[in-house]
Amino acid sequence: MKIAMIGTGYVGLVSGAGFADFGHDVTCVDIDADRVARLKQGEIPIHEPGLGELVKRNTTVGRLHFTTHTVEAVAGAQIVLIAVGTPTGEDGSADLQYVLEAARQIGAALTGYAVIVTKSTVPVGTSDKVRAIVASVTMHPFAVASNPEFLKEGDAVNDFLKPARVVIGADDPRAIDLLRDAYRGVMRTGDRIQVMDIRSAELTKYAANAMLATRISFMNELARLADAVGADIEAVRKGIGSDPRIGAKFLFAGAGFGGSCFPKDLRALLHTGRENDVPLQVVDAVERANERQKKVLGERVLAHFGGNVAGKRIAIWGLAFKPETDDIRESPALTVIEQLRAGGATLVGYDPAAMPNVAAQYPGLIELATDAYAAARGADAVVLVTEWHELRHPDLARLTSLMRGKALFDGRNVWTPQEVRAAGFDYYGIGRGRTA
Ligand code: NAD
Repeated sequence: MKIAMIGTGYVGLVSGAGFADFGHDVTCVDIDADRVARLKQGEIPIHEPGLGELVKRNTTVGRLHFTTHTVEAVAGAQIVLIAVGTPTGEDGSADLQYVLEAARQIGAALTGYAVIVTKSTVPVGTSDKVRAIVASVTMHPFAVASNPEFLKEGDAVNDFLKPARVVIGADDPRAIDLLRDAYRGVMRTGDRIQVMDIRSAELTKYAANAMLATRISFMNELARLADAVGADIEAVRKGIGSDPRIGAKFLFAGAGFGGSCFPKDLRALLHTGRENDVPLQVVDAVERANERQKKVLGERVLAHFGGNVAGKRIAIWGLAFKPETDDIRESPALTVIEQLRAGGATLVGYDPAAMPNVAAQYPGLIELATDAYAAARGADAVVLVTEWHELRHPDLARLTSLMRGKALFDGRNVWTPQEVRAAGFDYYGIGRGRTA
C-alpha cells in the first residue's frame, strides 16, 4: 500500500518509518527543507532510540522516501496521514493552522480516492474541518479518519511497532479496511485495533493524556504534603502502586511534567470544555498543580542557600523534558534555570542529548558542559532535573573532590538519600520528608 505522511517530526518520522517496516511504501513530506535534506542523507534529526536503525532499514530496501513536495507524496497514495504540530494558540486552544494548511495541500494533490487521517492531536470536530477544506479543493472521492498517536518520546519506536492499542475513528467502511491493512504489522499478537466514531477517537487522545497527567499532578501534590507532614512519597507510591486497581505507572513525584504534549493538550482540552460549557475542573486543577510543582525544585535550592544564590555556581543535570529524548519543549529544567538565573546564580548544564537544542533555541541561557562531572566542577550544588540513566548513580567520591559545595538536589527521587548523606552531602528530594 502507498502511504503519505505529512510532517516528519517525532510522530511523523517514527510512524512513517514504522508503516514502512510493516511493508508499505511510505513517502514522508516536510516543509522544512533542511530536515528533508538531512533525512535523505541518512541523518536522523531527532534523538529517539532505535529510530536511526528503523529508518535505515526501510530506506535501504526502498520502502521509505523523503520529499518536500506534498504533490509527489500524495499522488497515488491510498492513505495520507497528517502529523504536523498543533501548538497552543493565544486563547489556549490548539492552533490548527498547520493541520488545515496540510489538508488544503493534500486536497490539491489528490489523484484518486484516499483516506485522509489526522494523526496529530486535534480537538473534537477537527476532522469535519479537514473534510470541508479537502472537499473545497478536490473533485476526487475521499474519506477522513482520526488515528491519534499514543507513542511516548524516548520509547517511540517500540510504542509504534508494539502499541497497546490502535484507535481508529472512521465512518467509511473502505477507510476502516485500508487503515486496518496499514496496521497489519501490529496484528500478529491479536487484534489491538479499536474502531470507533471520529469524535470519540479525537477525544480519546486528550482523555489519555489528561488521565496520565492527573496521576502525576496528584502525586506531586501529595509529595508536597509528605514534605509538610514528614512522610516519604516514595513509600506511599509503592504502597498504592502495588494495588492492581491503581497500578504502578505514572505515579512518580518530581519536578513537574513538561514536553510537547501534556501541557498543551491539557490547555486545549480545557478550551474545548469552555467552548462547550462543560468546565473541566479536574483537568484545570491538574494544570495548576503542575505549574506550582515546576517551581518546587528551584525554591528548594533557593531555600538551601538562605534565599540568595547570587554568585553560586550550580550544575543542572538533565535539560530534556524527560530522559531518552532531545525535546526541551516546556521542560521543567527551563523553569529551574529561570528561577536560579533570576537569583544571580551561574548555571552550568549537562544533558546527554538536548544540549544542541538548548544552544539553538536559547543561545547564552546557560553554560553547557561536556559531561556531568565537568558541569559539577567547582559547583556549590548539583540539581538533577531529568533522570537519564547515566545520572542515576553518580560517583559521589568524584563529586566530593570536584564540587565546592555539598548540596545535591534530586528532582526525580532517583538517588538513595542515605548513600548521598553518608558521602557527606546534603540531600534534597521531592516529598521525602521534612529533612529531605
Ligand atoms: P513536530 O513539531 O516534531 O513535527 C511537526 C513537523 O511537521 C515539523 O517538522 C514541521 O516542519 C512539519 N510540517 C508543518 N506543516 C507542514 C506541512 N504543511 N507539510 C509538511 N510538513 C509540515 O511535532 P510532533 O512532536 O511530531 O507532533 C505532531 C503532532 O502529534 C502534534 O499534534 C502532537 O500533539 C502529536 N503527538 C505528539 C507526540 C510526541 O510525543 N511528540 C505523541 C503523540 C502525539
